[in-house]
Formats: sequence, structure tokens, C-alpha cells
Amino acid sequence: MTSTSGSGRPLLNRRLAEFGTTIFAEMSALAVTTGAINLGQGFPDTDGPESVREAAVRALRDGRGNQYPPGPGVPELRTAISGHQLDRYGLTYDPALEVLVTAGATEAIAASLLALVEPGDEVIALEPYYDSYAASIAMAGGTRVPVTLRPSDGRFRLDLDELRDAVTPRTRLILLNTPHNPTGTVLTRAELTEIARLAVERDLLVVTDEVYEHLVFDDAEHIPLASFPGMRERTVSIGSAGKTFSFTGWKVGWLTSTPELVAAVRSAKQYLTYVASGPFQYAVAEALALPGSFFDDFRAELRAKRDLLSEGLTAAGFDVYRPAGTYFVTTDIRPLGESDGFAFCRALPERAGVVAIPNAVFYDHREAGAPFVRFAFCKRTSVLKEAVVRLKSLAG
Ligand SMILES: *Cc1c(COP(=O)(O)O)cnc(C)c1O
Repeated sequence: MTSTSGSGRPLLNRRLAEFGTTIFAEMSALAVTTGAINLGQGFPDTDGPESVREAAVRALRDGRGNQYPPGPGVPELRTAISGHQLDRYGLTYDPALEVLVTAGATEAIAASLLALVEPGDEVIALEPYYDSYAASIAMAGGTRVPVTLRPSDGRFRLDLDELRDAVTPRTRLILLNTPHNPTGTVLTRAELTEIARLAVERDLLVVTDEVYEHLVFDDAEHIPLASFPGMRERTVSIGSAGKTFSFTGWKVGWLTSTPELVAAVRSAKQYLTYVASGPFQYAVAEALALPGSFFDDFRAELRAKRDLLSEGLTAAGFDVYRPAGTYFVTTDIRPLGESDGFAFCRALPERAGVVAIPNAVFYDHREAGAPFVRFAFCKRTSVLKEAVVRLKSLAG
């Protein structure tokens, strides 16, 4: 296949031209051809709880969810999501009107933007941003306005003045992400307070991607933006069973918001997938009812993995931004005498037998992201230990 039609017109339309191929495909292919350990893509290499897998098997066998489930999601799951928001955060959502189950958080993001953004609207996103944001904004015909998180004192920080300055009369919404992929930053109460104040003052909607809500470490706390004054009625909050329960292949996500916002997003969602993941929805409903100890244990396990990889990367000569959340660690390669993350990541599999992702792919201002490289630590301890041994060779 050529990439143009007979008339010479490109096959891929102009909205998506810049999103031709993802770095993940290139890097995962490199991992295969070189036998390198793939710490590029962020999926766990062990499955979530056995009891939850069994719940999916039971649903399949009992004939629950094998045919089109209800458009907004099966009632059991909507009730469980509502219960989760109440128990954890004290937020009340009516399972009938204020909860929508989606094909992963990815669809929740895409449907929210397709529903809420008019062509020409500006959408503010924190840069570096999760890769689907730019594409979803583009598909909605919106204009993305990145606000760059910058490292200081060992953490990537949001400059609240810069955020304030980024708002124009054409700004429709802020697309937020906390805990933040790829930097591992968890926005603080003070930062969220200011974001909420700005949204209320400028009458903005906020779509907030909180798929790592349970993956926070040490004394970091995840506070949902919807819990701030004036925010519940203007916030679409997004969660994912993939990240919370280590079943990324199930593609069960959800969003909670007001009846009006949920109805708007549902209008777009119904023509994307309509519904997805029937039997898995029942299993995720059970997963959300797991005792608090499940979440504590998962967090503790990931925290130990974070420490193992962070210490290994430090020993190998990287500057490490120890993440407060997610399962990614962002590093600075400049202490290794390098400055181009792309070149570094393309060479790393041959050089050290490890695959990582150059953060620059998550930036519009590529130069701002050039020296940063992301490693995933949601892998078995034995795999991380081997990666650490291999990376040690960089220290020379
Ligand atoms: C993984 C991820 C998603 C996508 O979640 P799915 O449920 O797999 O669609 C969305 N946002 C962020 C920040 C992620 O890291």
C-alpha cells in the first residue's frame, strides 16, 4: 500500500497526519528483534487477582454479558463505581444517570472530547501528555494548548501562572491527568485548589484522567478534582479497571459526572463502540468491592518496584524523578553525557538490552522533553532486577 491515493492526496486525513505511527510500536518491535527487556509500554506482566479472573469466567459461563450489555454499562458495575466514589472520596453519583461505562479510559477520553469540543475550541492539556490526548483533541477538531510541567526540586511541577495565562475566550476545557503519566507527579491539594478556582472563574469544563488514582506512594494523596468547590458540576472524572486491577486487555473504563454531561458524552460514545467487554463488566463490579487491603497490598508491591528500579537507574547514572504515583519513572539522561532521548532510546536496546520511551513524544515543545526518558516498573521483580543489572553497564 502507498500512503497516497492515485491523485497524490494522502490517505490519512489532515487531522490525524501527525499521528501516523506510535513510538510504542517502534520500541516494542526493537525489544523483540534485540531480545531487550521492554520497560517501554506500561502494562503489567502479571495479571490481576485470581478471584477477579474467576468472576469473569463465571459471567461468561452463566451467560452474563455475552450479548450487548446496556449502553451505559451493566447496572451491577454502575452501582459498584458509584459505591467506590462514595466510599473512597465521599462523592455521590447516581448509578442510573451519572455513571457511564466505556471501552477503557481511552474511549472515555475520546468520547468526552468528541461530545464537548466544538471545532476551533481550545483544549488545555498538561505537557507531557498521554499520547491519546493529542489525537482525541484532533479528532474532535479542537486546538490543543499545552501547559508544560517543569522539573524543580525533584518533581515535575505545574506553573499555575502559566496555566492561568493559557486560558483564552476560546478555551472550552482543561484535560487534566493526575497521578500523571509519564512524570509520576501527583497534583497537590494546593495545585488542585487553584485549578478548580480557575475553572470556576473562567467557566471551564474539566475532563480529569484519574486512571492511576489507586497508585500513589509514600505520603502522596490522590484527591479527585470533582471534590473541590464548584467542580462536581463541571468535571468529568475518568477511571480504568485496566490500571487499577492489572487487566489492561479487558478495556473496562468509566466516567462519572452530572446527568447532563454524562448524557452528552454518551451521545458520542454510543457511536464509537456502543458497548464493550460485557462479561468483564461483571468481574470489574466484583473487583471494585475488594477489601481495602487489596489496594494497600498492590500499592506496597508497586512502591517496592519503584524503589528497586529508581535505585538501579540512579546507580546507572541517570537523574531520577522519583514518582509519587503511576507506574512510570521519568529520568534525565544528561548526567550520562546524552541530551537526545530519541537517539538514546533507539540505541539503548543494543547498548544495554533495555527498552525505554523518550518523553519527547509526549510534548509539543519537543525540546522541552528532549533529555527525559521514561521507564515502566509494573513488571515482575525478577525482570526489574535483570534490567537493573543490564543498565549498570551504562555507568561504565
Ligand atoms: C493507560 C492510560 C489510559 C488508558 O486506559 P485504558 O483503560 O487502557 O483505555 C488513559 N490515561 C492514562 C494516563 C493512561 O496511562
